[in-house]
Amino acid sequence: MSTIRLYRENVYLKEACGRILTKEAVKKGTLITLDRSLFFPEGGGQSCDRGTIAGFNVLDVQEKDDAVYHLVDCPAEKLPEAGSDQEVTQVLNWDHRFDNMQRHLGEHIISGIFAREYGGVNRGFHMGEDYMTIDISLEGDSDYDKVTWDMCRHVELLANQVIWSAAPVQTFRFETRAEAEAMHLRKALAFDEDISIVCVGDLNAPGGPDDCVACCGTHPATAAEVGMIKIYKCETNKGMFRIYLEAGRRAFLKYQDQYDVLDELGTKLSAGTHDLLKKYQAQQDKNNEARQQLGILRRRVILSEADRIRQAIEDDKLAARSEGRTPKNLSFDYEVLTVDDLLNLAKELFNAIPKVLFLVHRPSHTVLLCSGGKPDCGKLVKENASIYGGKGGGGATAARAIFAKDEYVDTFIDLIDKHLR
Ligand SMILES: [Zn+2]
Repeated sequence: MSTIRLYRENVYLKEACGRILTKEAVKKGTLITLDRSLFFPEGGGQSCDRGTIAGFNVLDVQEKDDAVYHLVDCPAEKLPEAGSDQEVTQVLNWDHRFDNMQRHLGEHIISGIFAREYGGVNRGFHMGEDYMTIDISLEGDSDYDKVTWDMCRHVELLANQVIWSAAPVQTFRFETRAEAEAMHLRKALAFDEDISIVCVGDLNAPGGPDDCVACCGTHPATAAEVGMIKIYKCETNKGMFRIYLEAGRRAFLKYQDQYDVLDELGTKLSAGTHDLLKKYQAQQDKNNEARQQLGILRRRVILSEADRIRQAIEDDKLAARSEGRTPKNLSFDYEVLTVDDLLNLAKELFNAIPKVLFLVHRPSHTVLLCSGGKPDCGKLVKENASIYGGKGGGGATAARAIFAKDEYVDTFIDLIDKHLR
């Protein structure tokens, strides 16, 4: 049971009637075939058309043998009986179709130019919601073994020139392979009969048209409708080169988005597009210099803190001796130095600590316990931090305990201090 493909006769047709030839209730709705269909079925890397039939959404369109199957989002009884004379209205989601047409013809144009300029063969095509790619195999010209970014820029310029020339897009149908092979084909035929050949540009141009290949997809009447083509990325993939590109409305929207980012960045760096990279680099150099200076200053602060704490420990030892008590477990608070800085500070002090030293990072409610190894700081944290909901751990000479609230920090320090007396 074959379906007349209305999109082949007029790709711009957005509404049509049709009679239901077969109807079957399925899990997700109703599967129908029509005597004539507006809907292009999924195939050739292109998603199927969207729209409505009898007012119900078309969820999927697939081709089997000569028939087009439409999965309609409604119970079977909502649609006329199969074989009845009652017609249903088909309405195409034109935005989606035209988006597909622009991107798909963009693929043709880019592929044709890769073939002509570098002997690149399109061996794979993906047209997804997020991105579109073609896989170019450089098998047609031994002069080229790599697709460079300069080659991509050259190809995309030529592709846009094809658009600016409003090159016509023509479809020719042939009954036999021999007839089709008389055309200036980019790629060998995979079918023997009922062959559609799509050509972009002047058939009589000296090197052949801009593109000429077997295809059953939907294409606009001229390349001008593609609007613009942009290649975004090129990467190696299984011995081939994967080209990321966009065409039509999507290419324009991407340009709009990227321009806004570039413009905002330019404003932040007081730069125009021409000197943006230069100013960014200058900013980076400044940041690196500041980072280096900060590193040096940080080191100096740590060493001077180490001196101050060593002195405090000595002073306390003297006082302890004259007062007849044991030295205190001293505690020091920090706001600006990081926990990592405090670890580095601890490393300077291991030999000077009588029992335990507490270095507290107030913003993160973290206590760093440091000792010469006895008592074992890791063990002290492990056995006591959880009493106040603390977490953490570490080794014998340094261990950290992190608490949810600042008050637990002081309670924890008191606990350890009493425990060690
Ligand atoms: Zn095509």
